[in-house]
Amino acid sequence: MSQATPVAKQVLVLGASSEAARAVKELLALGYKVLWVSGDELPSNGLDSPALAKYANCRLYALEGHVGRFVSHFLHQGQRLALSTSAIIVATGNERYFPAERYGLELSSLVWTTSQVKEQLKKPLPQSVLAFRDKRILLLLDWSGETSKELVSESFSLAGELCERCRSEVYFFYRDLTVDSPGWEQRTRELRDKGVVFCRYGEPEVTVGEAAVSISYLEGTVEGDLLVLPEAVRPRGDTAELAEILQVRLGEDGYFQELNIRKYRAGLSARKGIFFAGRCHMDCDASEAESDALQVVAAVDALLGQGALEPEEVIAYVDPSKCIRCLTCVRTCPHAAVQVVEYEDMDVVAARVDELACWGCGACASNCPVQAIEMVGQEMPAWVQGV
Ligand code: SF4
Ligand code: SF4
Repeated sequence: MSQATPVAKQVLVLGASSEAARAVKELLALGYKVLWVSGDELPSNGLDSPALAKYANCRLYALEGHVGRFVSHFLHQGQRLALSTSAIIVATGNERYFPAERYGLELSSLVWTTSQVKEQLKKPLPQSVLAFRDKRILLLLDWSGETSKELVSESFSLAGELCERCRSEVYFFYRDLTVDSPGWEQRTRELRDKGVVFCRYGEPEVTVGEAAVSISYLEGTVEGDLLVLPEAVRPRGDTAELAEILQVRLGEDGYFQELNIRKYRAGLSARKGIFFAGRCHMDCDASEAESDALQVVAAVDALLGQGALEPEEVIAYVDPSKCIRCLTCVRTCPHAAVQVVEYEDMDVVAARVDELACWGCGACASNCPVQAIEMVGQEMPAWVQGV
């Protein structure tokens, strides 16, 4: 069996989300060198260290190599940039949009999104507060579809802030508010104590008039000054392209899909050494996304912490002299561990399995049409050996 291969404790973090920032901070605390890269601006959150290199406004266009020695190729300010790391954490977050079609309503002076309310509250005093002072605000969740956890959590925060800072009268309409996230039940109780009125509805009737909005539900009609609707979230527009470059899977919902059938580790993708953190692969609020990032960093540390990688006990090996370069194994491997390469010592071109990237699942061996692949380390049952 092969010896351990030394690897650098160097990690690429992709994305400008708060969970990306959390992962960067934790990796630095654990002594890793971190390359933090995003297609957007990076947050200026005081993260600075000689072990951290930041690159904003970069576009990943190619990835070479495998776990322990990935080389990511970016376009950065019109220049090509190649970054070598042992692992990659994808924490690109999600994308928000206003689902006007689903709601059947356009935004107006009487209909705002939660983000618009949040932006207004960030403005200087008294402008921020006066916009909502003594107004009755109707927050409507789960209308024509379930509101994501991130937006429910944000709506909770806004309801509290509107009550406390602006003395607004807040009605919180919901259909199926599940308080299954840590701390949500407590937050609901706190909001009730602050005066937020929770109203459960079945099929609400929403009317936007000239000067007021109203919601009719089972127990009557509530009229208000402002209707606040949460936006919806979806995978970022570049998710599919990124998945193709990284050779990782997307779920049917278009988010990154983690590998959870073998040797479970948080956020582990189908490719060894590539991990997903936070909202790019799960429905969660900002604090859960950051907790997920911490778990992912722990998984990265479990992989790279010793500064060396060893292959699995069972891995695939290609006999290059038998290989007919049909590419079946390249297409079959669910973990992108096989490539066709030149074996310089034998002057032959054939498939080769990266021993550190191979999970030993055997899919390639069972599909090779000329039996050129052997599973090394696999013990055959006695009855097979005797045949
Ligand atoms: S055994 Fe074959 S198919 Fe499975 S991970 Fe290894 S190379 Fe890929
Ligand atoms: S499936 Fe077999 S023959 Fe085809 S490329 Fe892979 S090792 Fe070679």
